Amino acid sequence: MLPKPPPREPSVGFLYLPPFRVVGTSIAGEATSVMIPELDLCFDLGVCPRAMLPAKYAFISHGHMDHIGGLAYWCSQRHFQGMGVGNIVCSKEIAPSIAKMMEGYVELERQKTPYKIIALDNDEPLQIKSNIYMRIFPLEHGAPTHGCSVYERRSKLKSELSGLPQEKLMELKAKGQEITNTMEVPLVAYITDTGACPNLIRDDVRKAQILIGECTFFEDENQDRADVGKHLHVKQFCEWIRVGENQHVVVIHISRRTNLTQVRDELFKKLGTALNRKIEILMDHKGNREKYERQLADAGIRAER
Ligand SMILES: [Zn+2]
Ligand SMILES: [Zn+2]
Repeated sequence: MLPKPPPREPSVGFLYLPPFRVVGTSIAGEATSVMIPELDLCFDLGVCPRAMLPAKYAFISHGHMDHIGGLAYWCSQRHFQGMGVGNIVCSKEIAPSIAKMMEGYVELERQKTPYKIIALDNDEPLQIKSNIYMRIFPLEHGAPTHGCSVYERRSKLKSELSGLPQEKLMELKAKGQEITNTMEVPLVAYITDTGACPNLIRDDVRKAQILIGECTFFEDENQDRADVGKHLHVKQFCEWIRVGENQHVVVIHISRRTNLTQVRDELFKKLGTALNRKIEILMDHKGNREKYERQLADAGIRAER
């Protein structure tokens, strides 16, 4: 008898929700790392799969190890691979502890991995790409925790000026008159870990095109565990989704104990057909691969096997 090889590591989850790709891994208590390549942004780095390296920014929601364990390694690998300094975005509340952790590595390694901490106040805007900004806001969890939202600033011609010829508009602009209003288009919101709290229904969360949100527990008997650990149970999660206007909801941070069939059944039972259509499960590798193959087929491209 030969000994068995170690279990295979699950692959990185992948969803294409045009125009964004959502890439990552997320299992409650083990590790959560999610990335949107088009935004150059990671949400948490519980572990650091290679796919996370190109992101220029890493937002850290809180200091639980399953959300921060891969952060130092991410900074180090980005430097090692010549990809530049990693920008760590977090709340002012946890920034000093992150700095202490990073300094600990300098002492251990006797070399300095470059990194930059961008510590934000609640709702302070941070520009991450041209016209693209993010902001953070507090959630309710066992350790100080923040969610974040990413939005685009678009200029729109003031309604009272619409219909005016281009030359006239240029003339007004040259005279120093403001001819546009700036509006915010909420793109992505990232919410984990948290119990039910008022910030779940902020406008930039409720209206984000893509909501990436935690739903840790699904079994009735685990409602107490959800309350104590300050996590969302499927009952609260579904109430939350009902008040949202999101185009897509990506469920993350599901406990390993709950199998995907149970997850799908519960969500379907509680949300019904129409709302359930919005739901994506980051770690449903088989379902997500089939979805992507359909997207390829619709685009007339044959899937590579
Ligand atoms: Zn967690
Ligand atoms: Zn946590």
